[in-house]
Amino acid sequence: MGNSVKHHPSLSLLEQFCDGSLTPEVALLVATHLDFCPHCQRLSKDIEADLACSFAAAPVAASQDDWLSMMQQVLAEAETTAKPVTPSTDPVVTNLEVGGHQFELPRALQRLSSKRSKWLTLGGIATARLPSGEPHHISLLFIDKNTAVPQHTHRGLEMTLVLAGEMVDEQGRYVPGDLIINTPDDTHTPRNVSDDPCLCLSVLSAPLQFKQGMTRLLNPLQRFFY
Ligand SMILES: [Zn+2]
Repeated sequence: MGNSVKHHPSLSLLEQFCDGSLTPEVALLVATHLDFCPHCQRLSKDIEADLACSFAAAPVAASQDDWLSMMQQVLAEAETTAKPVTPSTDPVVTNLEVGGHQFELPRALQRLSSKRSKWLTLGGIATARLPSGEPHHISLLFIDKNTAVPQHTHRGLEMTLVLAGEMVDEQGRYVPGDLIINTPDDTHTPRNVSDDPCLCLSVLSAPLQFKQGMTRLLNPLQRFFY
């Protein structure tokens, strides 16, 4: 297949995904990449198996006293944290409409997408925030055919996952499943140069900094994307 995923999360990012140490927003981005990528699905299964082995090999409580106090601690935690399990009532959204186009959503995004904010539109670009905590903001980003996001640099981390269509920037070409990570050292101009619309998932840890355009336009643009 000519359009296979080429840009993957690093091994360290996958390890943090598997051991649960990522923020929910970054974890959702990696989970969505996995929906597209059998290669990383296999890798994360291996990492999980390794984690399970190292957990099993960890030294157990040496004496009965340790064992008892551990059990007491576990039971106390169970008492304080046990709540009736309520299944998520968020409706499953399998398709999304924006800019007059329909997109099929990957499984990982189907529940959260019902909670998205309304679309903000600027030219051929639209964004909709998904619920998030700090420090990461997560949103859906629509880029219509033959449309560019204004050139910008980053004050923090920008992680972009292509969900549909394709996108190019100064570093390469990206297809659905490709994960692009930019840091404050990177300046780029993401563009959709194809005749099909593009949909991305974007995680930002700080507002973008735009390089062009009139100064008075910069702040509204920053708010639009963040
Ligand atoms: Zn991958």
